[in-house]
Amino acid sequence: MRSCKQVCYRVIALLLCLCINSHPCICTVMIRKNLINCNLIREKRSSKSIFDSFIKSFRPEEEACPVCRRKGDCRIHAYYSRYIIDFIGGKPVAVLIRIPRVICSCGHTHAILPDPIIPYDCYSLFFILRVITEYCLKLRTVSALCERFSITPSMLYRWLKLYRNHRSQWQGVLKAASQPLLDSLKDLIRINPFRDHAYSFFQLTGRSFLQSHKNPALSLRSG
Ligand SMILES: [Zn+2]
Repeated sequence: MRSCKQVCYRVIALLLCLCINSHPCICTVMIRKNLINCNLIREKRSSKSIFDSFIKSFRPEEEACPVCRRKGDCRIHAYYSRYIIDFIGGKPVAVLIRIPRVICSCGHTHAILPDPIIPYDCYSLFFILRVITEYCLKLRTVSALCERFSITPSMLYRWLKLYRNHRSQWQGVLKAASQPLLDSLKDLIRINPFRDHAYSFFQLTGRSFLQSHKNPALSLRSG
């Protein structure tokens, strides 16, 4: 039986996701920024912290337009706010971030999304990987795990299915079939730097790692 806290949090998360998916800016062509220059074991910062440090050094004029490919013709067009959910201090925490949107001289606009943010998802990459890892460690029942992360069992199983699917594309079907899930997670968090994995996966599949929704148009990695 779900607790009141869990139900309330799920309602909030659902509203945040609806807000993200209904925002008109999400339809723009995105530019992914692969920023994690170490492995995920060493990356101790929150998604918000990584995002904030990225914003401080962000130079729109250095971006290449994913549509016309010109570099140096982008400038800030607008910002849009969205929530991202991390797991901090033993509980889910939703924080508001302002995503920059640049416009190129060709007229196209592009949302800039750093690594910890999964397109079309309010849960961060770190959050989902932590849920899957704790599931594999089997320290709690599924019910207790969902209570801890304020998620539903269907979300947990959807993420597991997504991880298995993306893992097969990343590792190859044969290795994925023979290696326990937890061992693949250990491999994943040791990839150094993680940005290379993020970049390679995007080049291979056209999606970000653990992104469930298809991109509406061409995206570009840089950074
Ligand atoms: Zn352009």
